Amino acid sequence: MKIVFDRENCIGCGSCVAACPEYWEMGDDGKANLKNSNEEDGKKVLEIEEKGCNGQASNGCPVQVIKIKE
Ligand code: SF4
Repeated sequence: MKIVFDRENCIGCGSCVAACPEYWEMGDDGKANLKNSNEEDGKKVLEIEEKGCNGQASNGCPVQVIKIKE
């Protein structure tokens, strides 16, 4: 599965970082970064084996910019 993060529309609330710091951190510009992700079609993308805490990160994002595609 993969995480698809529409970083452009992140509002920088920090909820994903609180829920899942293993994968998420705040960038210097105030938006979240998905660690080790690649750029794909204007989104940040990361292949993952298991959802883990990214499920909480996705569910807790108030603007729903974190999608998990199975
Ligand atoms: S939870 Fe969503 S809006 Fe908040 S920092 Fe993370 S990606 Fe951005």
